[in-house]
Amino acid sequence: MNNRYAKKQLIQLYGPECFIEKLHLRHDKKIHYTSVAQMQKMKQLTYHHILERQYGGKSTIKNGALLSRENHIWFHRQPESVRSALNKKFKKYKACKVVFVDTPPTHIRTKPFELNLNKVPYNRAHMKKETKQLLDEDLER
Ligand SMILES: [Zn+2]
Repeated sequence: MNNRYAKKQLIQLYGPECFIEKLHLRHDKKIHYTSVAQMQKMKQLTYHHILERQYGGKSTIKNGALLSRENHIWFHRQPESVRSALNKKFKKYKACKVVFVDTPPTHIRTKPFELNLNKVPYNRAHMKKETKQLLDEDLER
């Protein structure tokens, strides 16, 4: 099973939503986007390995969590203790809320576009490099 397939299966089971947002697990400042395109990119769902690949974690439904790209990046910046606590919550959620649907939901919920004049300029090249480094192991493609 590859990440892309496992992600599709997770979406069918749990809906097209980031687990961190769904379970309200992130309490830092609101994220501001410089464009709708950037926001859409950051809201894209990615496959997260609950048990990391380097420790033998496989790309399966059981070992997966759906995280938006921005929350996935945030997740891997957290200290081990926080990551471990979050992974436990993903597992608990998956164990108690399995929803079977005939047709997966077709809409994806997004937050409204926010404008912040105090924002740090968005550096596309920097962001791209940082994302690649952080998630090379974990993201699909
Ligand atoms: Zn991950």
